[in-house]
Amino acid sequence: MLRTALSTVLLAVLTPSTPMGDTLYPHLGQLGLNVTHYDLRLTVPTPGTPDLRSDTTLTLHAERDLPDVQLDYSGPAILNVTWNGQPVPHRRAADKLIIPLPLPAGQDVRLRVTAAGPAGGVPDPTLNITLGWQSVPATPTQPGANFTFSEPDGTRSFIPCNDHPADPATFTTTLTVPRGVTAVAGGTRLADHPNLDGTHSVTYTLTTPIPTYALGISVGTLDTVRRPDLRIGDQHVTLTDYFPTSIPDTVRAPYARTGDILTALSDWFGPYPFSTYGSVVVTPDLPALETATLSTMPVRSSRERVIVHEIAHQWFGNAVPLGDWSDTWLNEGFATYAELLWTQAQGQDTAPLLRGWRDRLRPGTRPLTATTPAQMFDATAYARGALALHALRTQIGDDAFRAFLHTYARTRAGQPTRTADMLHLTRTQLGPEAATLLENWITQPELP
Ligand SMILES: [Zn+2]
Repeated sequence: MLRTALSTVLLAVLTPSTPMGDTLYPHLGQLGLNVTHYDLRLTVPTPGTPDLRSDTTLTLHAERDLPDVQLDYSGPAILNVTWNGQPVPHRRAADKLIIPLPLPAGQDVRLRVTAAGPAGGVPDPTLNITLGWQSVPATPTQPGANFTFSEPDGTRSFIPCNDHPADPATFTTTLTVPRGVTAVAGGTRLADHPNLDGTHSVTYTLTTPIPTYALGISVGTLDTVRRPDLRIGDQHVTLTDYFPTSIPDTVRAPYARTGDILTALSDWFGPYPFSTYGSVVVTPDLPALETATLSTMPVRSSRERVIVHEIAHQWFGNAVPLGDWSDTWLNEGFATYAELLWTQAQGQDTAPLLRGWRDRLRPGTRPLTATTPAQMFDATAYARGALALHALRTQIGDDAFRAFLHTYARTRAGQPTRTADMLHLTRTQLGPEAATLLENWITQPELP
């Protein structure tokens, strides 16, 4: 038996690091690495330019023996890396920052990484956009701005991270910007203090774990619009929106409904997972993104339905993270279905929405689990995902559906979730008939 024990030890030492094993993004993340918290300090000396200084302390926990630490990173030049305060060697290879020190199972370490330089983005050939740190140059009518837009893997463009939703974490974000510039990040604002060099530093804290791509940061010349605090049962939620000063009232108007939408969705989904919410409007023509507690809303997306969709993602995607990128329908199906729940809460006809979803699938559909990155955000993920939930609701009735959504949001919060997990809950809570119905919607090539 000694022989076996010895070879086990040798194996533990020699087993190379492997990524998380995502079906669609096999290079992302490190298996067995758990980043529990990111303490992130970013300095933006000239908003609108890519110039960025970062000082990130990651609290790492090893869930298995790790021969080294391999973080996702494609950001500015590294200045220094410390391991529990001691300088350590590091190297960069293929969008990874590698620290060649073993981290035994069960051990924690505080890894601090400083970097400086221009932060670019990560090209996303599927969406034809650049992900990650965004720079919006100043124009004659609008001062420069920066913000994050990272789904699925853009956060690695500005901080080293375990850049996969299966490793959600809490965040403390401190932003240092020139005086007069507004800096906002996901979470609750803790402090805003002036510095002697003409800058000020603002700190936000997010104590509910979120996936790295959901970290929202925005820097620019912004109007801050504080809404009346929201009380839902014994829950207290502060609401604040941010608009570039040049944005007209017509674009700002739909955001006044945020509190009503949050209240209506809480009825269906259960308690709102955070204590603050708002939107930040950005000028580039990108999709809208549900950055946690601070949705990133392009001007074009400043419509009630999109606002509803991104609020729904605060439960589905942010609080309940994906276990694999092939399961994006779990995010998009729920968020799309929320549009119907809100329409209904308004006393409006939902038939046009249902027809619209079927129309979107007329050119073709597929089983709900994506097999290529191009399928992650296609019509099937959104429209078929929503229709599957509608079919389930129609079969089991509103009360059982509401109870199911509450249980799903509560029990899967912070738990990397896959289609199989949702099916398992369907079977245990709603019975085999409901599970079979949902399974048909998930697996059949054509629409059931
Ligand atoms: Zn969405």
